[in-house]
Amino acid sequence: MSKPQALKCPGCGSPLRLEDWDTAAGIIKCSFCRAISTLPGSQPGGATTDRTSFHPRAEIPLPPRIQVNFDGTTTVITRRWFTPLVYLMIFFCVAWDSFLIFWYGLSLRIHPPWIFFVFPLAHVAVGIGLTYTTLATLVNRTVIEAGRGRLRITHAPLPWRGNAEFATHEITQLFCKETITRNKQGPSWNYEVWVNFQTGQPRKLASLGASMEAALFIEQSLEKALGIQDRPVPGEVSRG
Ligand SMILES: [Zn+2]
Repeated sequence: MSKPQALKCPGCGSPLRLEDWDTAAGIIKCSFCRAISTLPGSQPGGATTDRTSFHPRAEIPLPPRIQVNFDGTTTVITRRWFTPLVYLMIFFCVAWDSFLIFWYGLSLRIHPPWIFFVFPLAHVAVGIGLTYTTLATLVNRTVIEAGRGRLRITHAPLPWRGNAEFATHEITQLFCKETITRNKQGPSWNYEVWVNFQTGQPRKLASLGASMEAALFIEQSLEKALGIQDRPVPGEVSRG
């Protein structure tokens, strides 16, 4: 029997605790930063672990809206932004924007005090942001390409923040992270894929909304494409 290993979180480096292991879901979730790792399957080099009671995470089936292609050198993961929720967004945008058009149309005719033009400016900003987001949700796709030494993510055709490109030899690991935001409607979950580098801070690669499956799927596919061994917790083995 080897000594118990102090496994470290890929996100924040803190030691993972037994409570962090979710054997039913096949994941480990760090209680400090909520980084998610899939449980190890086979260890590199044929080494075995003593965690025989933990089942390795099976390969995650293709989640909806995601497509994977391999052209011989590059793995291309495409994810459509479209969800049926967009119909609700369209309805809301139409209501919001028509009210503003009505307001300014009326104001132009009756020449009210200047405050009537300034007051709804924040609403105009919200309307523009909302309408742009709705259009992007309708037409955009996120494309993640891994191959030829590069890992690249692009959102198109409507410009969106978060495009990035990395040299794959600098990447040591990929992991997923859960973030929870709480508002009046209650908590909402968001899952992200993060990249660890040989030097420097980890960086967020992609945000997958509420779909943990999509985040884990992308992590697994990229690990495979980049030839990164499944090392959910590359921890250094503790001497304790
Ligand atoms: Zn952590």
